[in-house]
Amino acid sequence: MILQLNHTTPFEIISQISFELTQGNIAHRFVQRQSVIVILGASPQLQPIIDKYHQYVQHTSETSSVYPLASKAFRQTTVVDIDGAKVGEGQFAMMAGPCSVESEKQINETADFLASKGVKILRGGAYKPRTSPYSFRGHGKQALQWMRKAADRNGMKVVTEVLDLSLLDEVMQYADMLQVGSRNMQNFYMLAELGKVDKPILLKRGMHAKVKEWLLAAEYILSGGNDQVVLCERGIRSFDPDTRNVLDLGIVPLIKELSHLPIIADPSHGTGKASRVLPMSLAAVAAGVHGLIVEVHPNPAQALSDKDQAINFETFDMLTQKLSAYTDALFETSGTY
Ligand code: PEP
Ligand code: MN
Repeated sequence: MILQLNHTTPFEIISQISFELTQGNIAHRFVQRQSVIVILGASPQLQPIIDKYHQYVQHTSETSSVYPLASKAFRQTTVVDIDGAKVGEGQFAMMAGPCSVESEKQINETADFLASKGVKILRGGAYKPRTSPYSFRGHGKQALQWMRKAADRNGMKVVTEVLDLSLLDEVMQYADMLQVGSRNMQNFYMLAELGKVDKPILLKRGMHAKVKEWLLAAEYILSGGNDQVVLCERGIRSFDPDTRNVLDLGIVPLIKELSHLPIIADPSHGTGKASRVLPMSLAAVAAGVHGLIVEVHPNPAQALSDKDQAINFETFDMLTQKLSAYTDALFETSGTY
């Protein structure tokens, strides 16, 4: 069960409720900043406590879900606000940009182009998780600075990966949304720390994560007090070397049945091939995503990471034109999409 208390509930009252729950042997967790108490397990001693403090209880949600805060029982929908750019029910968000920020010129050109197409959220990697230590691993802080400037010139927001918690303070200075990469989806200590942060989180699905594991990863962030989480389906590993990953669009309606969190798709990592990004973007929107994150590069052949899946400006232009037929029909606000 979840007890949602009024936001004005005094701290002493919350402490008192918590004390009485503990006295009654009722396992629970208070969620900072959300005025929420998650009750773990049922107990006949619970109802008298709820009755006693009824004036502070906004509502109760009955759920036996292992991820109560991420579950539909707690909320019907959530719209995540990325410093003014919204994603969720009725609000389509396009996030686009290069896999890695490679130079000031590259990120400027890309941001200028994307902004001219109505994109409000610029993606780009500054610290890259690479399979080989000899591959390009990003320009770090310099890349964050270039990307922030390029975004600001165009009134865009920035989403970038927090590769490690030691980089959190630095990334926080430049990003509007923090990406948890596929490889970190089960970095539980990192997830808990991101729960304390006052910025939205883009939680990519682990490449071999079950839906339950993914939603439990989201629960780590939510139970830390950060309720601004967007899920991103980025493809799962399969047996077949002809596809880099399998973009699992079947889970889009499933996630919408199970959770109130917005879900977007990453057709770039999800396919690994530029030629498949456009059709799978359309498929993802048809399946019900609230947005996309797409890798775009001024000259994909020269890209320092993920060059096979980056689309050029021309293809991105075509993508937005085709996409607008869907997004205009399905969403209230979607920029030019
Ligand atoms: C990326 O967005 O460039 C990236 C590394 O994504 P993922 O964590 O999904 O592999
Ligand atoms: Mn990439």
